[in-house]
Amino acid sequence: MTQSVMIGELAWPEYDRLVKDGETLVLLPIGALEQHGHHMSMNPDVLLPTAMSQSVARNIGALVAPAIAYGYKSQQKSGGGNHMPGTTSLDGMTVTNTIKDILKEFARHGVRKVAMVNGHFENSMFIVEGVDLALRELRWEGITNFSVVVLSYWDFVTEETIRTIYPYGFPGWAVEHGGVLETSLMLHLHPNLVDMSKIVEHPPATFPPYDFFPVKPEWTPCSGCLSSAKPASASKGKLLFEVCVEGISRELKVAFL
Ligand code: ZN
Ligand code: MN
Repeated sequence: MTQSVMIGELAWPEYDRLVKDGETLVLLPIGALEQHGHHMSMNPDVLLPTAMSQSVARNIGALVAPAIAYGYKSQQKSGGGNHMPGTTSLDGMTVTNTIKDILKEFARHGVRKVAMVNGHFENSMFIVEGVDLALRELRWEGITNFSVVVLSYWDFVTEETIRTIYPYGFPGWAVEHGGVLETSLMLHLHPNLVDMSKIVEHPPATFPPYDFFPVKPEWTPCSGCLSSAKPASASKGKLLFEVCVEGISRELKVAFL
């Protein structure tokens, strides 16, 4: 067996040796199964934070837990909407309870430092709730030194990188669903899961300043993407990946000093 940073690839005695004193940080990627347009697979929200977590773990000596491959319901103004074919989502309380259960299991193993690495915007507050409930229950059990960083990888894309990637103007992360960010990263990391010839070109989606339920399907561009991925490229993906890995590595070292 070769030494891996992936927890699922370790035998238990090796995992136990690495985590029982609480010093090793565990990264837990979380994403979604969600349509990302005609030109891309439905799993970038899982693959991107997983790949970043692996590189970060190698940089700073951490471990990576198997990703949570499903997430909270796709919202129309950030993910095209939960009415779309293929998009397969969990109720909020399921996301919350899944995270709570996994964190409490890690705590039982001895882990005391965890970073939630999010790749799907809609998960955000359900991650926070899962973390909060886990910390509360661990306190009841007398464990008061369990700490968690919650982050979304796109928050580590610097202003300078945004100017380089979007010289024609940044449309905002909300309409980046299936757009230049995710497509470029996928071209860099998993080019076999992207087909640039299938991109449907359209201007960035525009929405009124409210959500409407049940959703009005006609609000979502027919591609399922909220902006065009046409300007995406593997070299932009490499830059984005390196900036995120560098930023996450640096900040986690500071957070868990
Ligand atoms: Zn996505
Ligand atoms: Mn998403």
